[in-house]
Amino acid sequence: MKAIHVIGGGLAGCEAAWQIARAGVRAIVHEMRPTRGTEAHRTDRLAELVCSNSFRSDDSQNNAVGVIHREMRALGSLIMRCADAHQVPAGGALAVDRDGFSAAVEAAIGADPRIEIIRGEIAGVPPDDWDSVIVATGPLTSPSLAAAIRVVTGEEALAFFDAIAPIVHRDSIDMSKAWMQSRYDKTGPGGTGADYINCPLDRDQYANFLEALLAAEKTEFKDFEGTPYFDGCLPIEVMAERGRDTLRFGPMKPIGLTNAHQPTVKPWAVVQLRQDNALGTLFNMVGFQTKLKYGEQPRVFRAIPGLEHAEFARLGGLHRNTFLNSPRLLDPLLRLKAMTRLRFAGQITGCEGYVESAAVGLIAGRFAAAERLGLAISRPPATTAIGALLNHITGGHIEAIDGGPRSFQPMNVNFGLFPPIEEAGGGVDGRRLRGAEKGVARKQALSARAQADLQRWLADAR
Ligand SMILES: Cc1cc2nc3c(=O)[nH]c(=O)nc-3n(C[C@H](O)[C@H](O)[C@H](O)COP(=O)(O)OP(=O)(O)OC[C@H]3O[C@@H](n4cnc5c(N)ncnc54)[C@H](O)[C@@H]3O)c2cc1C
Repeated sequence: MKAIHVIGGGLAGCEAAWQIARAGVRAIVHEMRPTRGTEAHRTDRLAELVCSNSFRSDDSQNNAVGVIHREMRALGSLIMRCADAHQVPAGGALAVDRDGFSAAVEAAIGADPRIEIIRGEIAGVPPDDWDSVIVATGPLTSPSLAAAIRVVTGEEALAFFDAIAPIVHRDSIDMSKAWMQSRYDKTGPGGTGADYINCPLDRDQYANFLEALLAAEKTEFKDFEGTPYFDGCLPIEVMAERGRDTLRFGPMKPIGLTNAHQPTVKPWAVVQLRQDNALGTLFNMVGFQTKLKYGEQPRVFRAIPGLEHAEFARLGGLHRNTFLNSPRLLDPLLRLKAMTRLRFAGQITGCEGYVESAAVGLIAGRFAAAERLGLAISRPPATTAIGALLNHITGGHIEAIDGGPRSFQPMNVNFGLFPPIEEAGGGVDGRRLRGAEKGVARKQALSARAQADLQRWLADAR
């Protein structure tokens, strides 16, 4: 039986190869280091962690990352096995000894008779006789391979930077202050005329917000990133520096909007939030891409009326990152529609983070192996963490944003990607839950549903 080629021996590529081998199929991993390096990797090790040593929360009851850990362990993940074996104390988080971790992954891959490792860059479209390929070359894909992917997928389909505005959980927005309305009640394609959530600011609130924004600490670009201001996607704080009214005449302009709670009072400025996922559980802050430090963002943005208790599914950022416009380019099994022998995995698909990249590698490996063996392929249910992430990548995301720049941006796993659950139940004493208690109950219900649905899916797949 022909081998499946995996390009990239990072988190996703190693997990994919491991899953392929567990299914009894041969895998060849092509890793360019040490022949060619990236701007962030420091070693020639497989599965190198380029920055922090944390796999984030291991709490599977209350945190979506913990849920995805649990699912990966249930699916025999190599990355999780090695992380567990090389854990270092980090409270509720799963942090690892980075050297021990990558050495263990490399040892396991190297010792598997079904996996071959070839060191060298794949610098163009893989040869025609590689009939099943997983491209897992990550956020720092080598320029020549990126150029080849760009040719196959089209000019606009591969991004080299992400420009992310903060994304807020819909149910944490105070709708007694905010209201739903599209500017001038325009319906647009698929719209209702009330598609945006609007948060009004009066003159003083705007002045205070501006002051906080300008005073907040910003992150610097890394040397290799340059200053990638593009597509009219200026960071909100850079716009604010250009003049006191720049935002009020830009992304915070109040025109074409009437405050449903105070129709006779004209807001001085308005922050709009646009639906971000098909489920309608997440909304992004329009035009608020930012380089403010993560610690500063909740404080500054919670000063906006309606967002006082906002829970952020992800904070804003601007980074070097190579990723596909996956909802448009990939089919439900992660294959490139334009060349189905190429399947993508890891951060290049538009997930974000070590754990998520490995999870997408895991599922891509399983899909590729089943395809090779002629077995039926079933996707994990969208109610599981891996299924929810896959759904985000391959179609759960809204693409159209008023003819503006494309809206698909990389995403960590979070409960906002899960289909909402009916009432999350009452307290033990039958009391109706509110506020934080209700939020906890909702997360725990989503986690329990994910666990049951994963088990059902695994049982059906046997
Ligand atoms: C600077 C930086 C810091 C980050 N910090 C964090 C963090 O702290 N926490 C977190 O969770 N996530 C972080 N990420 C995001 C991301 O989750 C990681 O980059 C993660 O390693 C992605 O996994 P991956 O398998 O998709 O890619 P990688 O782990 O990068 O693996 C891709 C592999 O492909 C190889 N490769 C590239 N091109 C080719 C080619 N043409 N031929 C052969 N091999 C090739 C590379 O050498 C690399 O080994 C960071 C990203 C960057 C860029």
